[in-house]
Amino acid sequence: MNQLIRCKNCDEIFMKTPLDQYPEYEFDFNRPFEVFRSIEEDDYQDFLTHHQGHQLENLEIIEDSFVSQKAYSEPVKTSFFKATNGKEKFVIKKFREKIDEPLKYLLIPGDYSLKCTAIEIQSEEISKQLKRELKPPLSQDKIDAFLKLCHTVAEVIDIKELERIPEESHHPLEIYYKIDDIHLVYLLRNCRNIFKGQEYSAMEEFIHRHKDDGVLLLRATYKIQLAEIAKPAKKTIPTSFALKKDKIAAKK
Ligand SMILES: [Zn+2]
Repeated sequence: MNQLIRCKNCDEIFMKTPLDQYPEYEFDFNRPFEVFRSIEEDDYQDFLTHHQGHQLENLEIIEDSFVSQKAYSEPVKTSFFKATNGKEKFVIKKFREKIDEPLKYLLIPGDYSLKCTAIEIQSEEISKQLKRELKPPLSQDKIDAFLKLCHTVAEVIDIKELERIPEESHHPLEIYYKIDDIHLVYLLRNCRNIFKGQEYSAMEEFIHRHKDDGVLLLRATYKIQLAEIAKPAKKTIPTSFALKKDKIAAKK
């Protein structure tokens, strides 16, 4: 188990990672094992020396709280996860600025949440698949009309109501969702205005082929929203007091 230690006096943290559980993507295979171990041990000793006489406590990492700003495979990135001492919650920022730098951990009092910033259709992929699969081919006008219709669905849909398809994404802040049944019905009904006869049947089949794991999945982009709370020691002036001060200033 990783051990996350916080110095209560300085609000600094140290992550003690047992080497046998070192996540693969963070492991540098060019470095001999022993070198790695001694660096780690030295760092821990440094931390203990630096915070001698201070109050240390263990923090528990909150499961499934990990979020990252870049792709999983990216070595230089900033990630966040949550930890608790049982009473307070903390955000830990994990980052490195250069590929050859060790990972750094920073404690931020506060919380974070994910905010959906965009819901998009996979226009290019839909277009490509339509051209590949539909025989006889659709006219460009009809492809555009279908894309516009899908776009309308993406605009009105509530992402919270949708089923998430986790395995589609290679980026932690991009999540794919299945269009729900109500909106599928809407899509099909409006397709009747664009496509007739055989063409409509082909489109109906296309929609059913691609709705669960294909090009009709909606792509939602998220942003990490960090809400820092001011430390009690550095309390800002209460609003009422600040207002009074303003009034006095205005009277002068
Ligand atoms: Zn300390």
